[in-house]
Amino acid sequence: MAIAASFHPPRRVLMGPGPSDVHPRVLEAMARPTIGHLDPEFVRMMDELKAMLQAAFRTENRLTLPVSAPGSAGMECCFANLVEPGDKVIVCRNGVFGERMRENVVRCGGEAVVVDDPWGEPVDPQKLADALKAHPDAKVVAFVHAETSTGARSDAETLVRLAREHGCLTIVDTVTALGGIPVEVDAWGADAVYAGTQKCLSCAPGLAPVTFSERAAERVRARRSPVQSWFLDLNLVMGYWGEGARRTYHHTAPVNALYGLHEALRILLEEGLEKAWARHRRHHEALRAGLEAMGLELAVRPEARLPQLNAVRVPEGVDEAAVRRALLERFGLEIGAGLGDLAGKVWRIGLMGASCTERHVLLCLSALEAVLADMGVRLPRGEAVEAARAAWAA
Ligand SMILES: *Cc1c(COP(=O)(O)O)cnc(C)c1O
Repeated sequence: MAIAASFHPPRRVLMGPGPSDVHPRVLEAMARPTIGHLDPEFVRMMDELKAMLQAAFRTENRLTLPVSAPGSAGMECCFANLVEPGDKVIVCRNGVFGERMRENVVRCGGEAVVVDDPWGEPVDPQKLADALKAHPDAKVVAFVHAETSTGARSDAETLVRLAREHGCLTIVDTVTALGGIPVEVDAWGADAVYAGTQKCLSCAPGLAPVTFSERAAERVRARRSPVQSWFLDLNLVMGYWGEGARRTYHHTAPVNALYGLHEALRILLEEGLEKAWARHRRHHEALRAGLEAMGLELAVRPEARLPQLNAVRVPEGVDEAAVRRALLERFGLEIGAGLGDLAGKVWRIGLMGASCTERHVLLCLSALEAVLADMGVRLPRGEAVEAARAAWAA
């Protein structure tokens, strides 16, 4: 067998739904020497990492840690630990990830009550209130804060409040939210919240920060049946990530990936959460102004738009895949395709973490304009960049 050549990835600019550009400081941290996952120096780093995760989630929850697997495992961890066979769970579904939540409930042996909203719309709090009234025996409410498949933002604070008024625990997906828009775990009173590293944290994919309130941790300890997943059972994982105490071997931590997350959180907290949120808003406004000046439309109404994920309607007659291919081949620029109900109808342009800068907005606007113009699409030339500049100056 011929030995493959060493793999050197091409240079890309990542402006899709994730992964987004990884900060060079994170890549450099990940290349540092591997040490043992029980080494006292590593354990010290884990304690710092946990404190920074608490700061990022705005929580004092003791049960806060990165699950050693991607965002989907963070989702699965929340459902596997909090849903027991027979439990009724209200799942709000307005895109791909809400549907995955429903599948998780079913696989845990729970009964899913689905509250549906159209793709591109936020979760309607009135519909959740009605479902809570109709199902007083529901134990958990689950929803996605930032629906990456559509670019819609739901009102997490209100949804959590409604759930709590009915005595339900909440599972909240903040994979695309964390670092891009306010996530206030303690102020909202959310119970089980998970995120990912490759969206607005400027980190490589592969880890899922999670945080559990004391109420949620109590529910896990009081389970009638053991958590079906050995790997994700928080009762066991806590033996390794628990405070001070003796750290016991659970699984080999992804040591270098954790160096990366440690550095990514330092970068986020050095900037400051409020400043990071403001940066996402500012560059989103510039991108939006530029796209509109080009004659393109965003798919989500203004009040419900996520700054970090912009779903843009594909103009009539344009081959959306050919546009993405040209952006990648000519400019090394990756944007995302539509999924599910929006497949073929939108592009998804991410402005997440290290991919949310003036440089990214300008490249995206000028490259998209060039590609569309070369395909014969009639559009005003040169106005997009000017509109973005005006938005920054405003
Ligand atoms: C990306 C994403 C996930 C899944 O994360 P992976 O790291 O791809 O497993 C879950 N929920 C939302 C909202 C996401 O955007």
